[in-house]
Amino acid sequence: MQENIIYKMNSLSKSKFRGSFHLNNKMKEYVKIKGLEKIRSDTYDFIISRLAPANPKNDGKQTPMRQVHPTFIAMHANGFCCRSCLNRIHHIEKGRELTKEEIDFIVDFIMTWINNEIKWIVTFVNLSYNL
Ligand SMILES: [Zn+2]
Repeated sequence: MQENIIYKMNSLSKSKFRGSFHLNNKMKEYVKIKGLEKIRSDTYDFIISRLAPANPKNDGKQTPMRQVHPTFIAMHANGFCCRSCLNRIHHIEKGRELTKEEIDFIVDFIMTWINNEIKWIVTFVNLSYNL
């Protein structure tokens, strides 16, 4: 499954429209402050309320384009913004509720993308070096 996500994510990042979505610095900072566990739990909530129902409310317009939450940007970047995109890009049919497994897959996908956007670099430079 993980390999599948990376393959798909890579091909989406090459699309002109999908590949144009990235977290801005404010959103990266937001992830850092809230922590990945909190972002994951928000992502579950958003997917369950906005994408998982058989007929989501305002389908097609339920995901903000503005940088108000990192998960929304991830949803646009990866084809999880509405049921039409989910159908077209991930071949999950419309008109029925998403399964637990599909929800888990989408959340893992989004968290992988967010992690990749952040690419936190940990350095181990000894401050006593006198270079
Ligand atoms: Zn869409």
